[in-house]
Amino acid sequence: MEWRKSRVPPSSCPYCKEVMDGASTMMGGVPKPGDISVCIHCASLLQFDQDIRLVIVTHDEWEAIKAEDPVFAKLTELHQRSVKMFGSRNRPSKRR
Ligand SMILES: [Zn+2]
Repeated sequence: MEWRKSRVPPSSCPYCKEVMDGASTMMGGVPKPGDISVCIHCASLLQFDQDIRLVIVTHDEWEAIKAEDPVFAKLTELHQRSVKMFGSRNRPSKRR
């Protein structure tokens, strides 16, 4: 499995407010509306909206994703756990 990076429109995490303008995907390709993401700053589960901006994934939406694709959901939860424990290798440096 290879991680691929791509640029996305700048968007702030609804939880920690950090702005992100890039995404890494493990399935290849670029993020598209409805794709799930993990914030590299606070490890919150997020989703790309129609404009490829980050929005909250509700509990019900996440439960539906888990029911539909349990392997993807487990991989995402493992990724989320690794970001919580170790941060992201690709975390951008703070620009403040
Ligand atoms: Zn965040």
